[in-house]
Amino acid sequence: MQEVTIRSRNPFRFSGLIGQERSDALTVTAAGEAVSKLEGRCVININSTAAGGGVAEMLHVLLGYVRAMGIDARWLVIDGNEPFFELTKRIHNHLYGGIGDGGPLGETQHRIYQAALEPDQHELAATAKPGDIVILHDPQTAGLAEHAKSLGCRVAWRCHVGIDAPNDHSRLGWDFLRPYLEPFVDHYVFTDARFPPSWISPEHCSIIWPSIDPFAPKNQDMSPETVEAILTHTGIITGRRGDTTFERVDGSPGRVERYCDIFRTGPSPAPDVPMLVQVSRWDVMKDMPGVMEAFATYVDSGRDAHLVLAGPVVSAVADDPEGGQVLQNCWNAWRELPHAIRHRVQLVCLPMYDLDENAAIVNALQRHAAIVAQKSIAEGFGLTVAEAMLKGTPVVASAVGGIVDQVIDGETGRLIYDPSDLHEFGTAVCEILDDEALRQRLGEGARQRALDVHLGDTHLERWLGVVNAVLEDR
Ligand code: UDP
Repeated sequence: MQEVTIRSRNPFRFSGLIGQERSDALTVTAAGEAVSKLEGRCVININSTAAGGGVAEMLHVLLGYVRAMGIDARWLVIDGNEPFFELTKRIHNHLYGGIGDGGPLGETQHRIYQAALEPDQHELAATAKPGDIVILHDPQTAGLAEHAKSLGCRVAWRCHVGIDAPNDHSRLGWDFLRPYLEPFVDHYVFTDARFPPSWISPEHCSIIWPSIDPFAPKNQDMSPETVEAILTHTGIITGRRGDTTFERVDGSPGRVERYCDIFRTGPSPAPDVPMLVQVSRWDVMKDMPGVMEAFATYVDSGRDAHLVLAGPVVSAVADDPEGGQVLQNCWNAWRELPHAIRHRVQLVCLPMYDLDENAAIVNALQRHAAIVAQKSIAEGFGLTVAEAMLKGTPVVASAVGGIVDQVIDGETGRLIYDPSDLHEFGTAVCEILDDEALRQRLGEGARQRALDVHLGDTHLERWLGVVNAVLEDR
């Protein structure tokens, strides 16, 4: 297991955005209560990757604030191995209601799962002390609950994935995980009230929406000149070169220096070409090929718009073995596009060597976009939606999972009720592209909603509430 270095973040910065009263509720009331109840115990978070995807994104931010509030929060990342991550990806896809790679979830898979986690158990024993709180994230770490419990820790399991209505696949996924969780977990956390299986009692379960950090490189204010300079430097558009600096998480200056790997024919678009952008991991559930097909079929004709599908360089996301295959499928679909359309579509792999730099590029893309898409087939929460909303960029997104908690259809973006309906998706995109006043109105509504309900203070308060609940449960 690796320990991730958590960079402390100043929670008092929120007051300028949310007002003193809301700020005090977090930094004085909620934090004070948690610190006194913890009495020096550690809160150990365990997940399966330190970079790439929503959970890693959220932990960097959340734990940075929590540490600054005087709580000894730690973050460990399990090692895993290839068969383990293949299996946990299968379980992940099942919990989203999909069949994944179609492989089995039987005795052999239990053995693979347990064997891969065994070394992590020993390492956990070296960190955790009796009374500490262990927060396990997602299916990859569920198998550590028994061991954490045997060390005398309180155990919470936070699940970031789920499906709105259970189906046979999701039930199979839950059948696999249940024996690792039910006897040992004190408290559960889900992102949506529809996600927990029926054997989890609501009393021992909290619902917490994830949040975004307005000061992080991913979301911090960025001038239009910097946006243009970053996207020009990385090769996504052809605009004016200039200053690509941003503020790093630790407050020091950073600069976008690396380039993106880009699949495109012809020159990059000019800055005034409207862009539809989807940023996500290369994951089947994000349906990147569906965005491409909808764009090619319903958006391209007669409009000088471009599509950017952006995700991390595939080697960088440790717990996501499917990434390379999904990118390959996108590339195959892109090569099949008629030439006239293909040159309006680019597949972009963002450098992941420096996470602050990666975040600054995502920030620039989400600000530059005329519309941000999140055409997921299923979604735990969908951080990219809140990120776009905070930047005042209208979103066209599937009405699945946590996305419906974020987008108010027609006020802060557009919801697509059938994620497989390419026509509905394409029509919504065209309506917004063709109507500047609508784009403006949806963008303003989106920003206000993100400020009201998707900032970290609300999330942190609830997280501290979970720490209290874990101490009290059972
Ligand atoms: N992300 C990123 N760089 C990338 C691709 C994605 O920083 O190259 C971030 C994205 O901005 C968001 C997170 O990864 O913060 C994805 O979270 P989301 O909830 O949308 O989906 P998940 O990956 O958790 O399924």
